[in-house]
Amino acid sequence: MGSKDILIVEDEAAIREMVAFSLPSEAFTLRQAADTAEAEVLLSERLPDLILLDWMLPGTSGLEFARRLRRDEYTRGVPIIMLTARGEEDDRISGLEAGADDYVTKPFSPRELIARIRAVLRRSSPDRGSDRLEAAGLTLDLAGHRLHYGQRQIELGPTEFRLLRHFMGHPERVFSRGQLLDAVWGRGADVEERTVDVHILRLRKALASVRREGLIQTVRGAGYRFSTRKE
Ligand code: CA
Repeated sequence: MGSKDILIVEDEAAIREMVAFSLPSEAFTLRQAADTAEAEVLLSERLPDLILLDWMLPGTSGLEFARRLRRDEYTRGVPIIMLTARGEEDDRISGLEAGADDYVTKPFSPRELIARIRAVLRRSSPDRGSDRLEAAGLTLDLAGHRLHYGQRQIELGPTEFRLLRHFMGHPERVFSRGQLLDAVWGRGADVEERTVDVHILRLRKALASVRREGLIQTVRGAGYRFSTRKE
C-alpha cells in the first residue's frame, strides 16, 4: 500500500501542525484546510482516503459539512473522523448520525489519533467494495489499475480508467456530462463538457478491442450509461 492521503479540516493551526508533525510521513500525506471552503477546493483536486473533520469550525460546522459530504455522491465513500472537544454521549451520537465513522475527543495524543485513523481505514476499505469490479467478462482491478478481458489485458489511459470505474461502480445508471465531470475530474475542475465525449470515445475504442464498446451507451439528450443490456 502506498501512503494514505489524509485531509484535515481544522481552524486551529496549532492542531493542524500537531497532526502534521505526528503522522509518519512514509505512511500518510496530510493536506490542510482551515475551513470547509478550503476543504472543498482540496476535495475537488482529489479524494482523500480519510477526512479529519473538526466539529467547531467558523461558518459551516463540521457536523453540517459531514452531512453534506455524505449526501454528495462524489465524497460519500470517504471515511470521516470528527475531532471534537465534546465527549458527551448525545454529541457523539449526532456526529455518528451525520455520517462520521469515528470521533476523537480533544485533547488527543498522536498515538491515539493514528490508531483511530488506522482502524477506520481498515474498516472502511471493504465497504468501498472489493478491489475489483466485474461485468460482461471485463475485470477492472482497482488496486492494480488494470483492465482485463479474460486473460487479455486492455490498455487504458488514467482518465479512461477512472471513467470506467465510475461506470462499472454504477451500472445501468445514466450520467450527464456534468455528473461525469464531477465524479471523474473532480468538482470545480476547469474542463469543458466536450472533454467527456473525447474520453468516452477513447474508452469505447479500448473496449472495442474485445468487442465490448456497446457497454458504454449514449442516452440521447441525457448522457451516458454503462449497461450490459442491449441498447
Ligand atoms: Ca475549531
